Amino acid sequence: MPIYEYRCQSCHLVSSFFFKAASAATDVTCEHCGDAGVERIMSAFAQGRTEADALRDLDPRYYKMVDDALGKAPSTSDPAHYLRQMAPFSAAEKAGDPYFHE
Ligand SMILES: [Zn+2]
Repeated sequence: MPIYEYRCQSCHLVSSFFFKAASAATDVTCEHCGDAGVERIMSAFAQGRTEADALRDLDPRYYKMVDDALGKAPSTSDPAHYLRQMAPFSAAEKAGDPYFHE
């Protein structure tokens, strides 16, 4: 039985459906938010493709989605946030060595 997967344009989650015939794969709505704006995607598992193949075929919009999400994330989730809080070596030298004591 074929598995059809659809990615929701609204919530970007994937809905999986089983259809007895391809002709039945109509009027599909997102099973997460109910939005009708779903887009058929190929199931990497069903086609026996490798994960690398699937990654290569990733929708460019997915990368944008990740970029947007990272941009909206709080600054503490940014690895550079911690870097910025660290004292530069030049400052540490002036103040002596605050981290190691003999
Ligand atoms: Zn949805």
